[in-house]
Amino acid sequence: MSDDTPVCPYCEHEEPDAWDIYFGCQLNGTVTITCGACGVEYLCTIVCTLNFYSRQKLEPKE
Ligand SMILES: [Zn+2]
Repeated sequence: MSDDTPVCPYCEHEEPDAWDIYFGCQLNGTVTITCGACGVEYLCTIVCTLNFYSRQKLEPKE
């Protein structure tokens, strides 16, 4: 199961403030998260998706 927020496997509580966990994440990895609802630690695997957006450096002349 995957989601855009970590979900506690014990009580299914979603961690809405998990972006600080993602911050600085450059590789996929597993972190330990303490559930904000039931207080139990669980493992969460972060899967980072790399996206590229290309655009012209110079604005087109009108
Ligand atoms: Zn929980």
